[in-house]
Amino acid sequence: MKLKILLLICIVPIWCLNAKPIKVMLLTGKTDRAHNWEVTSSYLKSTLDQHAIFATDVVLVPTVEDSMKYFEPDFSKYKVVVLAQNGFEWSEKTKIAFVEFVKKGGGVVVIHEANNSYPNWKEYNQITGLGGWGGRNEKSGPYYYWKNGEYITDNSPGAGGKHGKRVPYVINVRDQEHPITKGLPSKWLHQNDELYGNLRGPAENIHVLATAYSDSTSGGTGKEELVFFTVTYGKGRIYHTVMGHTNAKFADSVQDVGFQVTFSRGTEWAATGKVKQKVPTAFPTETSVLLNDFSEKDGL
Ligand code: ZN
Repeated sequence: MKLKILLLICIVPIWCLNAKPIKVMLLTGKTDRAHNWEVTSSYLKSTLDQHAIFATDVVLVPTVEDSMKYFEPDFSKYKVVVLAQNGFEWSEKTKIAFVEFVKKGGGVVVIHEANNSYPNWKEYNQITGLGGWGGRNEKSGPYYYWKNGEYITDNSPGAGGKHGKRVPYVINVRDQEHPITKGLPSKWLHQNDELYGNLRGPAENIHVLATAYSDSTSGGTGKEELVFFTVTYGKGRIYHTVMGHTNAKFADSVQDVGFQVTFSRGTEWAATGKVKQKVPTAFPTETSVLLNDFSEKDGL
């Protein structure tokens, strides 16, 4: 009996020591003129680094179009790829490798302007679910939004992608039982950000987790738009958040604790299908935002 007890005591710490961190590829290094990849990616990296469960490598996409032929990241070494870029078109070989990675169960996280990329790459749009700009229109797929308690698939003609001024907005969680949102409040205020609206895409296998009202008085669509949702593609899980507009002068949206918590939970879910992270006690409320700029060590 003594031997059995001893074994039990030993096995747990050994298992814990051997628990492998989730390998994350943070794909960044080039985006469009409206955004700043250095600001966004530094906050994304700091957010994941708060959690010992993640081991994140930053992989830079080329800033020169001619170098794209050498861009062949090894997706297979990772459990999840965080897309924080809006760069040049990938080579066919790299596109195929990425799609295979997702089909086989690789996770993907889509951050804000990453859904602007590649309007004509069919599989990319199936993986991201919805996107904006880049000439998207009714040929890209329907609009998809929340109205009177249900989701509307709207095939009417028109451009894909619109946002109003950068303002705070209230996030309405629509599924509080999903691993990503379980334990979070049903509403909270998100700090100044672009709220994407009128996104269009294949919208296949989408599961909406949260929406927000895009106020027409500040230039929005007047609709309840998707803020974050999941997509499944093959065996792959995708977490897509429209939050995260930054430029060189501000980073409010990614300093927001609500963004950081949902991003890190979404990344874990995309990688494993589960979320073991605890919801922090300090969290924004419906009327007050909460920021973490990582200037203090204990942060969250
Ligand atoms: Zn933006």
